[in-house]
Amino acid sequence: MEFSKKLQQLPTQFFAALVQKVNSALAEGRDVINLGQGNPDQPTPPHIIKALQEAAENPQNHKYSPFRGIAELRQAAANFYKREYNVDIDPETEVAILGGTKIGLVELPLAVLNPGDTMLLPDPGYPDYLSGVVLGDVNFEVMPLFAENNFLPDYNALSDEVKEKAKLLYLNYPNNPTGGTATLEFFEETVRFAKKHNIIVAHDFAYGAIGFDGNKPISFLQVDGAKDVGIEMYTLSKTYNMAGWRIGFAVGNPEIIAAINLIQDHLFCSQFPAVQQAAAVALTASQSCTDKLRATYESRRNVLIEEAQRIGWQVTAPRGSFFAWLPVPLGFTSEQFADLLLDKADIAVAAGNGFGQYGEGYVRVGLLVSEDRLREAISRIEKLNLFSS
Ligand code: PLP
Repeated sequence: MEFSKKLQQLPTQFFAALVQKVNSALAEGRDVINLGQGNPDQPTPPHIIKALQEAAENPQNHKYSPFRGIAELRQAAANFYKREYNVDIDPETEVAILGGTKIGLVELPLAVLNPGDTMLLPDPGYPDYLSGVVLGDVNFEVMPLFAENNFLPDYNALSDEVKEKAKLLYLNYPNNPTGGTATLEFFEETVRFAKKHNIIVAHDFAYGAIGFDGNKPISFLQVDGAKDVGIEMYTLSKTYNMAGWRIGFAVGNPEIIAAINLIQDHLFCSQFPAVQQAAAVALTASQSCTDKLRATYESRRNVLIEEAQRIGWQVTAPRGSFFAWLPVPLGFTSEQFADLLLDKADIAVAAGNGFGQYGEGYVRVGLLVSEDRLREAISRIEKLNLFSS
């Protein structure tokens, strides 16, 4: 059967291939340490599960509910932004509830661009941004992220032509895959750049709760004028280990929020209201579970980086997110190195080129296994004698 051209244009699911490789290694009975995927390894905190159980019992929650989300969750999102970032959000007009932020990031180009328009994407970057490019029939230009610039894009390096034609810009800090974080100055520069060139900004704040060394990640909306040019996407997936629950939201510019809501109305009805009520509890209750989670990722990061350096691997510590972005040894492509680690050491990592052309030369390692497993992974790599300590 022949289906749509769009279907054929959709980017190959990079993680699907990785999962397949890992699964066949597991099926052979091998003890694979999976550092390749981005799935939080810990359970959702019990008070959130309890809130879901109670809300699921309520027959009112078994009905269709407003496509822009229940009032309780929109209010909780606004309160969360005030408490965490001192940002004022109007729960009526400046919040859109999403079934996870991936969907929001994919539907945004449909909502705000015309076919053939151009958007700017970070490279390396979260591969699913490309789904929005294809489904929205838009073009994209990449903004390279280099270690020398702390993985922040250099707007001055973009050509005048690209600056003029760009209509939408995606950013993501703390960054997947590099672990880089943004500064207030960089976000201020982004607002100036966006205003000058009439570009909409969407900041993907998926790892907003995970900043290391006492540095709380900065919300894009903390910058004066940010709401004039853009929105921020916030997910509960990582902050509360709720990836499977599919709940997140967009906050910011009311016109963009209204556009997202209109698309939502046509594509979905709404999220299960009981999940929304539990999400409101997550955002409102004590955040000590998140503090513990951040501390867990930070000690795993410390173990990984110290161990890697001990075997002579020249690595830099991520500043946020739950990923480390590690350079591949000389003589390997990122894919060759990832294959070698799986074949010879039973360690799965994500090859950097899966995140874009500027991801070549790196592998992404998830901090999503215990410290002991991270130690074990590095000691297996040590035995491959790739580095001189
Ligand atoms: N953005 C980034 C950078 C991510 O890494 C992820 C998930 O891995 C998402 C967005 C999607 O998160 P959600 O679970 O809210 O769809």
